[in-house]
Amino acid sequence: MATPAALLDEPGRAAGIRLEHPVQAGALVARFGSPLLVIDCAVVRRQYRALAAALPGVDLHYALKPLPEAAVVRALAEEGSWFDLATSGEIELVRAAGIPAGRCIHTHPIKRDADIRAALDFGVSTFVADNVDEFIKLQPYRQQLRMLLRLSFRSPQATVDLSRKFGCDPAAAPALAEQAAAAGLTIAGFSFHVGSQVANPDMYQRAISTCDELLRAGRARGLGPFDVLDIGGGFPIDYLRAAPEIGAFCRPIRAALAELPVDVRVIAEPGRFLCGPAGLGLATVIGRARRDGRWWYYLDDGLYGSFSGQLYDGSRYPLEPLLPHGGMPEPCVVAGPTCDSIDVVAEDIPLPELQVGDLVLGRQMGAYTSATATDFNFLPRARVLAVNVDADAS
Ligand SMILES: *Cc1c(COP(=O)(O)O)cnc(C)c1O
Repeated sequence: MATPAALLDEPGRAAGIRLEHPVQAGALVARFGSPLLVIDCAVVRRQYRALAAALPGVDLHYALKPLPEAAVVRALAEEGSWFDLATSGEIELVRAAGIPAGRCIHTHPIKRDADIRAALDFGVSTFVADNVDEFIKLQPYRQQLRMLLRLSFRSPQATVDLSRKFGCDPAAAPALAEQAAAAGLTIAGFSFHVGSQVANPDMYQRAISTCDELLRAGRARGLGPFDVLDIGGGFPIDYLRAAPEIGAFCRPIRAALAELPVDVRVIAEPGRFLCGPAGLGLATVIGRARRDGRWWYYLDDGLYGSFSGQLYDGSRYPLEPLLPHGGMPEPCVVAGPTCDSIDVVAEDIPLPELQVGDLVLGRQMGAYTSATATDFNFLPRARVLAVNVDADAS
């Protein structure tokens, strides 16, 4: 293992560290402080390979939003991943990581002119739009770009429904395609996002077959190449409840994709699935109190920090003491460090008695956790530390 000084050469990247067992994470807290969010790049690689095997022939574009970390981007690039960018900050991150622009698409449906220029300057040439005002913004650059028309397929059963805010009604797509073609835009095809952490693959299946019809109709009318279908993200992972195994989950999706014209390039934009299981949250019990007959444990991380996903993303993470002292678990409350009363991570969670200074481990905390953390109350967010960054660690 490298010395602490060498480990700190590159912020957030612990090059020499191999993490094989969570207990070793305790040593990381001793060295790097608490709270900590450990990102295991070996798990990122494993997740990429699992999804690539479940969706053969589909070009996976990592959506940076759930965990915009350079070490994750580099690990995925080494696996052959492509990238889905939505903001100029994300462009800067992939640029600094040395990712070629040709491996990136820009998928924000609503853009400022400066956003479009920043992406074009980097070299991105695939953009997403879902309405006429956006076509007008893209029109001046039509020689340099191709457009995916984003469709909306509502998924009320998904944890996060991403088809309410963006996407046009599939029934409106033919008329919009006409308008885009009239504006001189090259229509590469369609994209959709059925929602995040979706419960079952039915919606993908329906969306793919609708897009199949629309692609064929667009081609028949000579409105553009229509040779790309982007099936978005949303692939589920285990939290307190187990998700379906990814190969089985994708079986109906594979069947629907097999019906597409053979020359359609299929791409996907997974976020959570690639990075969620890679995150291990480590927080320290900084105080405790007995209130109304139960223990309240106060951690140095909470809803305003790495547990922000409980608010924004609706996720709940499996929590456990790192090194239990023994004793019968009894219902207790786990709270965050801020003075705000909503800053409670778990009520009624069964835990054996903990002492001040003990470490609590949160699993499946890679996606939508540190990405949405704040420094509320001047409490610094958890430090992000990437481990197992080298491919031979996996
Ligand atoms: C957030 C987002 C993703 C990633 O979604 P996951 O559910 O995390 O896989 C992909 N594409 C777009 C356009 C997004 O906004």
